Amino acid sequence: MNIGKMLKRFRVEHGKRFSLKDYDPSDTHGIGSEVKPQAKELLADGVKEMSRLQDILAAQDRWGLLLIFQAMDAAGKDGTIKHVMSGVNPQGVYVWSFKAPSAEELHHGFLWRTMKCMPERGQIAIFNRSYYEEVLVVRVHPQILESQKLPKRLVTKRIWQERFEDINHFERYLTRNGIAVVKFFLHLSRKEQKRRFMERLDTPDKNWKFSAADVKERECWDAYQEAYEDMIRHTASEHAPWYVVPADNKWFTRLLVAQAVVDALKAMSLKYPKLSGAEQAALTQARQQLENE
Ligand code: ATP
Ligand code: MG
Repeated sequence: MNIGKMLKRFRVEHGKRFSLKDYDPSDTHGIGSEVKPQAKELLADGVKEMSRLQDILAAQDRWGLLLIFQAMDAAGKDGTIKHVMSGVNPQGVYVWSFKAPSAEELHHGFLWRTMKCMPERGQIAIFNRSYYEEVLVVRVHPQILESQKLPKRLVTKRIWQERFEDINHFERYLTRNGIAVVKFFLHLSRKEQKRRFMERLDTPDKNWKFSAADVKERECWDAYQEAYEDMIRHTASEHAPWYVVPADNKWFTRLLVAQAVVDALKAMSLKYPKLSGAEQAALTQARQQLENE
């Protein structure tokens, strides 16, 4: 199983001809569930490699990594984040969840609240939802725009196009500053979402996960799919690609996401910092001092 090669199929860098129809949420690259144990091992390998690279990321202190997760409800964002990040040093990873904006946040431009959560150099930041909600939930429910306190004449038919442009420029800015941006759309089928909702209703220990609001949002399924498609069309780029990850099979989702994170870190050609002559000399001196104690 060559996950690296497999992953390419799900990476979108040029959105112009992107169509969600070309992506099957139940895709497992022809791999049957009989190899699930092997997939588990591969995931463990991926997590180990991530951990190794994260250590160098922190030591080198030059690059940062922003991972964005977007999906319909019950697609498995939380579980994927949990599994994929299970092996990394929590000191260098920050997870931020973005819900409906607060009154304070609505007093600012839409990128403001995410700005404070950007990864520092040497760190990884994970966005569980993100500024992309501004072209998803807000587009599906345009009445939300009215609560955004925007001057009236700035709210035109062009607003989504303008937001795409602002997001693209913002991500360009980040990547030009050494903050790599990788975006995941966990692509779930309508049928599997129903099955997971039912499971939440049927299993007492999963009842807490159930939300009637999620069932309400499900009524807007097609509008969401269109919004996701248009979003990917307009915001996929070489420097900030989207991964359209099949989400009907959790083991496959996790495997691909782990590999994508490893790839993003590898692309940085990370290296432990080399000490200067003076710093080397200081180490020698410290050694002598310890030995002479
Ligand atoms: P979980 O249900 O797994 O805890 P979640 O991300 O679904 O995680 P919820 O509190 O259920 O969290 O939902 C957050 C809600 O906030 C989503 O419906 C999302 O669309 C909404 N939201 C996020 N960002 C914005 C935004 N900028 N404007 C309006 N609504 C937003
Ligand atoms: Mg929810």
